[in-house]
Amino acid sequence: MRSGDGLIVRVRLTGGDLIPDRAAALAEAARRFGNGLVDLTSRANLQMRGVSDETLQPLLDRLAELSLLDASAAAEQVRNVIASPLAGLDPSAPIDIQPLIRALELRLIGNERFHFLPAKFGFLLDGGGVLPLDGVEADIALRAEVDGHFRLEAGGETLGWVRAEEALEAALGVAERFLALRQPDESRMRDVVGRLLNEAQQPSPPSGEGGPTKSGRMGCGPLATSFPVGVLLADHTPSPVASQRHLPHLVKKAAAPSRLAGPHPAGFFTAAAPFGRLDAGQLEGLAAIAARHGATLRLTPWRSILLAPLAVDVTTQVSSLGLVVDPGDPRLAIAACPGSPSCLSGEAPAQADAARLAPVLAGFVERGASVHVSGCAKGCARRAPASITLVGQGGRYGIAFDADSKAPSETEPMSLGELMAFLTKRLTENSFKSSDHV
Ligand code: SF4
Repeated sequence: MRSGDGLIVRVRLTGGDLIPDRAAALAEAARRFGNGLVDLTSRANLQMRGVSDETLQPLLDRLAELSLLDASAAAEQVRNVIASPLAGLDPSAPIDIQPLIRALELRLIGNERFHFLPAKFGFLLDGGGVLPLDGVEADIALRAEVDGHFRLEAGGETLGWVRAEEALEAALGVAERFLALRQPDESRMRDVVGRLLNEAQQPSPPSGEGGPTKSGRMGCGPLATSFPVGVLLADHTPSPVASQRHLPHLVKKAAAPSRLAGPHPAGFFTAAAPFGRLDAGQLEGLAAIAARHGATLRLTPWRSILLAPLAVDVTTQVSSLGLVVDPGDPRLAIAACPGSPSCLSGEAPAQADAARLAPVLAGFVERGASVHVSGCAKGCARRAPASITLVGQGGRYGIAFDADSKAPSETEPMSLGELMAFLTKRLTENSFKSSDHV
């Protein structure tokens, strides 16, 4: 993709997994073929920035040497799968999703029908455990329950529960129904899920009348009825305990994963990149620390990198790289896109300004606020509303509360200095209450 600072090249990592040698090689490639900056995305991918037309092919050749280049663009695009960052490394996870991740990718690549899925259509595999993917959205999601079942979701709606060994077929069956039901202008599951639910409530067509060759029954959830996705969903009603997220006591005490930074008692370390951006030296540094301690690196959908498993505290080493290691750092609660000049659509340097505003925004964050600084109304860094949303408009910022980036500004657009004064006044007047704005 072309951007204000050159081409952006996405590297899609299966399960976000990045062994130290590959991380070091990618850092070297980012420096050699791009401008040395690397973005972490909310789909746990990595993007190299500042690649030129001349350096693109050598970069692709290097990615091929590292076994990080797909056979085709379609194959790369279709394997849009977010997985639990601790997959295979978390003994408390109710289901080990590690084998499912690549299996799902291979099924998506291998069946050309799925290549017609829209570009942003994505899957999610949540094994639960100490880092559940609660709040991370996907078109089709499988979320582990305590008793060997996944909750199957489409467009955020629970369709039912499915046994682990049937989960892949169930998810792919829903993807097939999406392709069958979608209109040309519909690109996300949420556009179609209403019709999918309606379809599920219709009686199964009698066999031999041209309906689906197989139909499954949902034995639980909102759809105790036939559901023609071509798989048999489990006749299973989770117990009240099982239907809650696993390990509720642990989850309740834990910080939201998006706010994690530093060491974790479960034996991993979170290195958070301010606003999801790091440079080649920082990536190299993380690779060296991981290699030294026998850990691997895992990218998260919260724009951070985990080092796991880890028996030692590496806070000092990671902190010396300039990465966020303090869960109280206000930058963890601020979403900011690159903005201008990196993005051609940017009307303000969102990321640079977010860093400047962080000290004053810290006061709001302490009261539980979320903040979104966007270079334009498109709002790439955050789709959900934030307590405070700042949107670039011709070099200034509009501001809206409890709104997304498309909401109209509640004030005249302000310069950065005016914005600082406005926010400081709001804070000292105590006219911002977290209960109103979280
Ligand atoms: S929100 Fe606007 S400025 Fe920011 S990355 Fe997206 S298109 Fe670019």
